[in-house]
Amino acid sequence: MAYPEYWNPKNETLPREELQALQLLKLRRLCEWAYATTPFHQRKFDAAGFKPEQIKTLDDLRRIPFMTREEWMESLMEKPLFGDLLATDSRNAIRYHLTSGTTGRTPIRVLDSMKDWDWINEMWCYGIWGFGVRPEDIVYFAFGYGSFIGFWGAHYACEKLGALVIPGGAQTTEARIKQIIELGVTTVFSTPTYALHLWQKSMEMGIDLARESKVNKVILSGEPAGSIPAVKHQLEEAWGARCGDTAGMTEIGTIMIFECSHQPGGTHIIEDHFIEEVLNPNSDEPVGYGELGERIVTSFGRGFIPLIRYRTKDMVMKVPASTCTCGRTWDIYSGGIRGRWDDMKLIRGTNVYPRAVEAIIREYPAIDEFQIYIWRKEELQDEITIKLEIKTGHEAEWPDLEHKLTKDLASAHEGLRFNIERMDYGVLPHFELKAKRLVDARPLANY
Ligand SMILES: [Zn+2]
Repeated sequence: MAYPEYWNPKNETLPREELQALQLLKLRRLCEWAYATTPFHQRKFDAAGFKPEQIKTLDDLRRIPFMTREEWMESLMEKPLFGDLLATDSRNAIRYHLTSGTTGRTPIRVLDSMKDWDWINEMWCYGIWGFGVRPEDIVYFAFGYGSFIGFWGAHYACEKLGALVIPGGAQTTEARIKQIIELGVTTVFSTPTYALHLWQKSMEMGIDLARESKVNKVILSGEPAGSIPAVKHQLEEAWGARCGDTAGMTEIGTIMIFECSHQPGGTHIIEDHFIEEVLNPNSDEPVGYGELGERIVTSFGRGFIPLIRYRTKDMVMKVPASTCTCGRTWDIYSGGIRGRWDDMKLIRGTNVYPRAVEAIIREYPAIDEFQIYIWRKEELQDEITIKLEIKTGHEAEWPDLEHKLTKDLASAHEGLRFNIERMDYGVLPHFELKAKRLVDARPLANY
């Protein structure tokens, strides 16, 4: 059956002037709603001398104070459990969720209403329809269905568009692989790390997913790796399927960006429901197309917790919608979310981004698991060591690989010398969900 290409043909192809007019209208309403209902925003607007009626053009957005995770945390600590960010009585909520907290930080707690959930699912519908999920698809969620919001919204979105949904839930990886094959699954939702793990495990089981499964789409979320070309390529080969990147945040409850089926090397921004600014993180001045900056998000959809000019610390590079041939008028983050500004490590005067290092390491298919280990030599000099494991059967490649990888890493980092250390197979932690491959073992500065 022939389906339309877009989930929302009108808004996804709206001329940009009309799109901006719509954003302006929604922005003004959002500020009025937040000011009238949410003590957190009342406090902040008053302190900044900002009034919602000052929003007359989209540029007036810059009058609104930023919102940070730190302020959110402070509010949660002062007024447990939810701080003063709720726009309505907590009794109106139908669901409680948490940020994943994988970075060792205290998780943020959120509540949502039925109406919020309708919106959360709708945002996922834009993304997964855009990547080609259709009512005929049999969809598998390799997801634990816990307090972490993860793929909950995607689950409902698949039901909403009429696909058959199989909730993977708490099962072993082996059991999941068996289900994927047995039930004729065509679409898998997973983090990039777990999608790789499923593939590795299937090989140990003597199963070739590319041949023996019917999977033709893998939809990735939860980690930036979904837009790293080498990771994507590896996953597409392994699964014999197209891999589509998406990104969301618990602070928003859903995705803001998705890769369409034309795979333009990045992710469209859902601009009828979000304003995504890209700013220089030091000067807070906007940067242009093709320049790296921090993404600042304003969300129009979540009524329970209004999110306005939220500093994400995500590193992005915006390019115009015309970069993609799909016809959407929504701008694109080239390379998806490229990492986090606070992930940047300074090693002997050179900036090192773990995601950039990962992208280089992933160019070597013989490398299995790895770790970026930062340490201090003789209490003086910072060192960076890549600890890695070589895949069984690829041991002979090691001497050559060591030499080439050292050269590649140095040339991408102004000549900075990386140490390479080969570990025995199985020594490094292997990750099933969100990967934590960076260890900074330098002593904390003592003032
Ligand atoms: Zn597109």
